[in-house]
Amino acid sequence: MEAKSKTTQFVYSFKEGDGQNKKLLGGKGANLCEMTQIGINVPPGFVISTEACLAYIDTGSHDLPDGLIGDVHAKIRELEQATGKIFGDPENMLLVSVRSGSALSMPGMMDTILNLGLNAESLPGLIKLTGNERFGYDSYRRFIQLFGKVALGIADEKFDKPFEALKKRVGAKNDLDLSADNLREISEVFLDVVQGATGRPFPEDVFQQLELAIKAVFNSWMGKRAVDYRREFKITPNLANGTAVNIQTMVFGNMGDDCATGVGFTRNPGTGENVMFGEFLVNAQGEDVVAGIRTPKPVHEMEMVMPEMYKQLVALRDRLENHYHEVQDYEYTIEKGVLYCLQTRNGKMNATARVRTSIEMVKDELITKQEALLRVDPEELDQLLHPMLDPSTKAEPVAHGLPASPGAASGAVVFDADRAELAKKEGEKVILVREETKPEDIHGFFAAEGVLTSRGGKTSHAAVVARGMGKPCVAGAEGIVVDVEKHIAHVGVHVLHEGDVITIDGGNGNVYLGELPTVPPKFSEELRTLLSWADEIARLKIMTNADTVDAATKAVDYGAMGIGLCRTERMFNAQDRLPIVIDMIIAKDQVERQEALDRLRPIQRGDFKDILKIMAPRPVTIRLLDPPIHEFLPNEKQLEQEIAHLTSLRDTVEGVNDLMNAMHLLRRKADTKELPKPFGPGGRELVESAIAKKTQMLHKVRELFEVNPMLGHRGVRLGITYPEIYEMQIRAVLEAAAECSKEGHDVHPEIMVPQVCTSRELLWVKEIVDRVRTEVEAEYDTKLKFKFGTMIEVVRACMRAGRLAETAEFFSFGTNDLTQASFSFSREDAENKFLPLYESNHILQHNPFEVLDVKGVGRLMGITVDWGRKTNPDLKVGICGEQGGHPESIRFCHHVGLTYVSCSPPRVPIARLGAAQAKLLEKEYVIQQGLTTVNKSI
Ligand code: ADP
Ligand code: MG
Ligand code: MG
Repeated sequence: MEAKSKTTQFVYSFKEGDGQNKKLLGGKGANLCEMTQIGINVPPGFVISTEACLAYIDTGSHDLPDGLIGDVHAKIRELEQATGKIFGDPENMLLVSVRSGSALSMPGMMDTILNLGLNAESLPGLIKLTGNERFGYDSYRRFIQLFGKVALGIADEKFDKPFEALKKRVGAKNDLDLSADNLREISEVFLDVVQGATGRPFPEDVFQQLELAIKAVFNSWMGKRAVDYRREFKITPNLANGTAVNIQTMVFGNMGDDCATGVGFTRNPGTGENVMFGEFLVNAQGEDVVAGIRTPKPVHEMEMVMPEMYKQLVALRDRLENHYHEVQDYEYTIEKGVLYCLQTRNGKMNATARVRTSIEMVKDELITKQEALLRVDPEELDQLLHPMLDPSTKAEPVAHGLPASPGAASGAVVFDADRAELAKKEGEKVILVREETKPEDIHGFFAAEGVLTSRGGKTSHAAVVARGMGKPCVAGAEGIVVDVEKHIAHVGVHVLHEGDVITIDGGNGNVYLGELPTVPPKFSEELRTLLSWADEIARLKIMTNADTVDAATKAVDYGAMGIGLCRTERMFNAQDRLPIVIDMIIAKDQVERQEALDRLRPIQRGDFKDILKIMAPRPVTIRLLDPPIHEFLPNEKQLEQEIAHLTSLRDTVEGVNDLMNAMHLLRRKADTKELPKPFGPGGRELVESAIAKKTQMLHKVRELFEVNPMLGHRGVRLGITYPEIYEMQIRAVLEAAAECSKEGHDVHPEIMVPQVCTSRELLWVKEIVDRVRTEVEAEYDTKLKFKFGTMIEVVRACMRAGRLAETAEFFSFGTNDLTQASFSFSREDAENKFLPLYESNHILQHNPFEVLDVKGVGRLMGITVDWGRKTNPDLKVGICGEQGGHPESIRFCHHVGLTYVSCSPPRVPIARLGAAQAKLLEKEYVIQQGLTTVNKSI
């Protein structure tokens, strides 16, 4: 940076500084200026700008930038005029505080120095002036202590030790019990501490004190703690660059019982309630309230001890809110019956309070509905929708994994899905603990309170399914070693047995032993109101991905406007269906397969009816079978083991039966009656038939083997090779619709074909749909209304969007597959092997499976929307990939012109707010360069 020219203004009095310019004056300084200028009683002072700080750092020397100290002296003169006191005058001294403050508040910056300007010479003057010896020595010792620590870098304990020793010696429980003499004594000790630690006497010259303090503030900006903090929280120079220094006339809360100091919130930051909130201490200074030396009193007690001051404080609080239109976190001091405000800033609060205050501030006409919607971070709402660990409990986690699905849950450990289901039936709460999960574990998810895996990433099967169900999940907790055979897990030195209780926190990935208390989620009236405002403003509709009645019910409660993705294969996996599905897969011929399908159809129809009714009159998009069918069969190794096991069981049955026969021959008839009969005569046949079935499955598994199943025989490819499967599903949907409307429900199914890459595929399925529609309409004597459309998850489909839109009435982007296809990354491999490294080395900014890759995948989406709508301007277009629930992706979807986004039920509220914000912030959105060119080229 160039050296600042002489004309640069480095110093601003509170009366002249721009209250909006936090980058220049820091947050604290800007607000001190603002408050001064709107007439709030702020002790006079001035701000040294962040530019001065940067200039100082830039010189690399230990000198303040040219002209700065002169300007500071001039401003001190102004303070002297304003207060009628003189800096360094022993008879009538001006004392100041030196406070740091950058654009963002951050720990690691320098602590405040109070009472600067005191020295041995002026101390008697202060005592004479106030007529309070104790006060004089107390101020003095505080100053030496703080200045020594903060500006001279002397360790805390060098002061604390002698101080504690003195208190002990004189039997003082707290600081107030110390007499003036005690305090004089300790000031002298402190002066020696400084001399001993620095090799120099305590600086007596007040301007030297001031200069040292200013440099200390500047230096703290480059201190290790502050630098680390900025790195950790990605505070770029754009957000905060350099710290300002605030120099302010001291006011004293410790001059007697008509003095006090306190901190407050304009509303309760834990609940949002519109009440006075905060704490204060009579006869105390500055940090005493937060330092925990004395126990502060709740602010409403001030009404009794200082009624007039309390009235003024209420007025101050109203004033602050009316000016800032935001909940404020403020600090004040009362000196001899005069109230001074020393700081204000926007209050931090939890999600509950943020939502409630948003609603109430609109009612109070402090903010508009739009402002209320922009005030809440959509992601914050997550806190409100899941049970959380009770924040007051302290416990040490025993393992840590990825926070894969938020919420906290406790339960007994079980190591497989069947046991989870059994335990649930017994009324027990369980946590399913697996190395990783598979589609066939689905019933375990339903039964469990939460899921813990030792392998896999945030988009592993466990994570995706748990999120879909809104159940807590910690994934890839590598500190846990699961031994499935023995039914134990090792967690560091601990061994978990089945039935041991653990608690998981899917919000941060922690795993605890034992049951920890949780607080339940609250979908409050206030949140409902806020989200109803969001719906009025948003252009995007919010749909949900739901496959079950439970999920659909929850989603409707959360405000989902329909189902954007109902995966039929999830229904196939339920315990009562899987055997039929397996029969369908291993069928020897079409007759056998049709027989299995005929058994499945009424079950599917029932499922669809339930979901359609719950969602009526909202649309329900049902996706035809997508995954490769071998996913429904056990794997090859498992089958081989089972067959080997059954074979030895057969030998045992044979052996036991041989033994029984031998016994019959050897004994008289009467004796054999008491002989055990472990296996009936049919035992052998039973085992034989089990072996035969498993062998048939094994053959099928081998026959279905694919090198790349995700790129293989799945989706519409499956529907074309086994048309009877798709036909069964289509019929089940249309029959369900027919029956529902006969029963008087206004249902809107939409049939969606997965994995389409050419319009011929879509036409092939459309033919079946048309035929089945005619048949069902005849059979039920009714007209069906439904839509037919396609997923867009193959790059070629994007390129052929114009053509596909001739047949499809809607498109739905499956951005998980589309991302895989665009990057040529397999998701599992990417997340387990190289994506973390890509992210940490900034090769990719985000995991594209979590945050939509706007530049690549997004560009494809833009082309697809435009070409599709050229063919059919009414084309409905949505997204049902996981990214659909993330505010950043939602913003993009808004701009690219989608009709809706579809996400898991617990993310519906987040998405509703995200969609409203996308609309409200429309103008500020910077369209990615790539996309603009695409739009122009069309
Ligand atoms: P922090 O950023 O840690 O809150 P502050 O700069 O606000 O630090 O200072 C901490 C406390 O010191 C304030 O809350 C206030 O009570 C006290 N303080 C700061 N300046 C003054 C002053 N000019 N007069 C009296 N007390 C002050
Ligand atoms: Mg502090
Ligand atoms: Mg403060």
